[in-house]
Amino acid sequence: MKNSTTAGMIFILKEGLAASHRNKLRTRLEQMGVSVKVVAGPDREYLELSGDDAPVRTLSPETWPGVERVVELSPSWPHAAWGAGSGRSATPTLVTIGAERVPIGPGQFTIMAGPCSVESYERTLEIARAVRDAGAQVFRAGAFKPRSSPYAFQGLGREGLEILKEVRAAAGLPIVTEVLDVRHVDEVRACADLLQVGSRNMQNYALLKELSQLRQPILLKRGYAATLNEFLLAAEYLLCGGNDQVILCERGVRSAAGVDGVVLDLGTAVELREHTHLPIVVDPSHGTGATHRVLPLARAAAAAGVDGLLVEVHTQPETALSDGKQALTVAEFQRLVAEVVAVRAALDAVNRPSASAPLAVQRKE
Ligand code: PEP
Ligand code: MN
Repeated sequence: MKNSTTAGMIFILKEGLAASHRNKLRTRLEQMGVSVKVVAGPDREYLELSGDDAPVRTLSPETWPGVERVVELSPSWPHAAWGAGSGRSATPTLVTIGAERVPIGPGQFTIMAGPCSVESYERTLEIARAVRDAGAQVFRAGAFKPRSSPYAFQGLGREGLEILKEVRAAAGLPIVTEVLDVRHVDEVRACADLLQVGSRNMQNYALLKELSQLRQPILLKRGYAATLNEFLLAAEYLLCGGNDQVILCERGVRSAAGVDGVVLDLGTAVELREHTHLPIVVDPSHGTGATHRVLPLARAAAAAGVDGLLVEVHTQPETALSDGKQALTVAEFQRLVAEVVAVRAALDAVNRPSASAPLAVQRKE
């Protein structure tokens, strides 16, 4: 059965592509059943495809020599999707956090770290200083905690927010903390530079609508079992209300096949880049649930090309009030920072324009 779509696609051609090459491409596409219009841009041409493009969508962008990028126009999440000529972002979005304007997005690799929960002022400040000195650029800690058990520590709430305010001033790092309830938005935003929407709230549409009215960055974590489409639709709730500062966070999904029932879904993290201009970060702590799995998966995420990490760190994991089993010690976190920086540097060295192209893949036509 054909899955016919009328949304259309845009092929952004490489700068300076020869007309003969473009015509070949056009003929090949027309043979696949779509109508093609050639549009001249300021520095390159675009092919606008209409009609039944389902067969074209099944092929990966690498199939098309001479094409810089393939943009699928999506009627479902137009603000989150790559756009060209439609007023939407055709370039990756850079979000900046706090007065320090910490960047997350193209050309960056941003590390956010801290304990699962705000504990005492002294403990929280101690961890903030330690992660800052190890290379974190944003401090994470939850004051309102979503816990599976109603008997588990629920976070310090308002007292935790006050602690975060003081820690921000003392440690000089912008803060990311979770907003759990639509009734808490004002008080949380007063102390958060980046507001976290947790996995359990990804589909809390009342909360998303409220946050869409803010002009403050939001870290949207993927729901436990959300599809890519549902994740981007949740982002769309924020974006369509006018809040264009949204960061997506892959934090693992439920799977009986995963260790402890969770799988860090790096495949979807990579796939998201095909569909959206928003920054994408990975949480290898909740995404693996155990200290010894955090570092290898952080390395993998860095190698996969995401824009940053969200990592749980504690100066005494064995005493942590929540998620101690997945918290890195400061020494382990220092190692993580060194290793992910090394991974990125190695990839940059191979990919920089002046490097010869040892990794060029020969494709069959
Ligand atoms: C957290 O970041 O502490 C948290 C509870 O995350 P998630 O919503 O992904 O479970
Ligand atoms: Mn946690």
